[in-house]
Amino acid sequence: MRVCDLAVCQFSGFEIPTSQTFMAPLPATKEATFSKKPQTSKPKKVMKGRKRNDLPAAEVAKEDEQKGVAVADIEDLFSEGETREIRESMLEWYDCNHRKLPWRRKEAEEIVGEEEKVKRAYGVWVSEVMLQQTRVQTVVDYYNRWMAKWPTVELLAQASLEEVNEMWAGLGYYRRARFLLEGAKMIVDEGDGFPSTVASLRKVSGIGNYTAGAIASIAFNEVVPVVDGNVIRVLARLRAISANPKDAATVKTFWKLAAQLVDVHRPGDFNQSLMELGATVCTPLNPTCSSCPVSSHCRALITSKQDNSIPVTDYPTKVMKAKPRNEYSAVCVVEILGYQETRKKEVSGSHFLLVKRPEEGLLAGLWEFPSVLMDKEADLIRRREVTDPFLKKSFGLDPKRSYKVIEREDVGEFVHIFSHIRLKVYVELLVIQLTGEMSDILPEQKKEVSWKCVDSKALSGLGLTTGVKKVYLMVQKFKQSKITMNSPTERKLKKPRK
Ligand code: SF4
Repeated sequence: MRVCDLAVCQFSGFEIPTSQTFMAPLPATKEATFSKKPQTSKPKKVMKGRKRNDLPAAEVAKEDEQKGVAVADIEDLFSEGETREIRESMLEWYDCNHRKLPWRRKEAEEIVGEEEKVKRAYGVWVSEVMLQQTRVQTVVDYYNRWMAKWPTVELLAQASLEEVNEMWAGLGYYRRARFLLEGAKMIVDEGDGFPSTVASLRKVSGIGNYTAGAIASIAFNEVVPVVDGNVIRVLARLRAISANPKDAATVKTFWKLAAQLVDVHRPGDFNQSLMELGATVCTPLNPTCSSCPVSSHCRALITSKQDNSIPVTDYPTKVMKAKPRNEYSAVCVVEILGYQETRKKEVSGSHFLLVKRPEEGLLAGLWEFPSVLMDKEADLIRRREVTDPFLKKSFGLDPKRSYKVIEREDVGEFVHIFSHIRLKVYVELLVIQLTGEMSDILPEQKKEVSWKCVDSKALSGLGLTTGVKKVYLMVQKFKQSKITMNSPTERKLKKPRK
């Protein structure tokens, strides 16, 4: 094999073939020796290798095993013939079956110019970040709105975090939006153009191995693999790998397998084909193996045919998620009637008090109704014991001297689930009429608390998190139900018959 036929994979240090003639024949595959139940394949330990460019993959793996670097079992590797056939089948399938998505290249569209490549790289970056933890159907709309507002990385770099958060509202995991903005600023500030290789992309704030691989391969044709949840599922099934897919050593194995498969002429399309197969055919619970282009290479399928007590869905091994911890939040929606903008000297309708969350931690820097975290379940009295001092300390809202209570009601509660937290949210509505000047009551912004008052129209237009929207909706419904209850018709209906 010529040395120029190999490129070094940036993730595994393993050489990726740059021609279709790759490996020496591998030992027979494991089908004949499969155990009844998926086994945990133990990744082997080994060291940094000597010069390996001229060695076939099987020998490299053996050498690694002896030296202690965590690698795939030798039987997990694809043979030369399998590699070639999988590439061909996947690309053919992808060309005919991939979903038309706004961030994907149109049919037969050639990306030639540098400007087009950068445009595409930016689009891939935005879409990939949005797609982490979010379904494609949901992302399409967000992506289109985002690209209409910030069609280039330069325009995004000029945006504020607040604008970005507003655009992101509802997608969750707001840290991703912040990283996109920080990354855009970094790229523009450095002035070296859009990074085009995995190595340079990895230096950008918030871009990890996966996103770097996706951008570099899809937009710049760099022959690098990508490994996300979909790719892990496909590879785990193709190779019947039952080791814990979250283990660092197993993840390394998946990178190595993906690096072995990636097509040298169409790396971007190949990577997308693996992800697309995982998303549409080789799904977690109902894979449609009958329409899978690589079913003839699938060890999980072979195993399941030999023993129907081992379905393909046994791969990859399911990892028990840590139970989310319980948290409790007492939210007080403060509605101020006749809110007076001191500077404008005009009295307008009701306004809602919003407070900005701390710049670090969960939902960092986002707006919400005033709330206090509690350590356990709490009744209304207990909640008021904590929210009242909070309102007084943070906003100078003191019922004895600064406002009159017009209405105060317990609106209800709901549970909001984050990936690691089960948050029980208690909602109370406090409608008040200020008895003094706004400026006396809500003092100047304190360093530790940022707040603002907005009317309901502005509130609806703000990019609020799903949890805050739920609170607002709950309050609106509550008010609506009270109006209905007090309507003359309703009162008439409720009147006891004589
Ligand atoms: S044959 Fe089935 S389990 Fe195997 S890769 Fe294809 S869809 Fe997945």
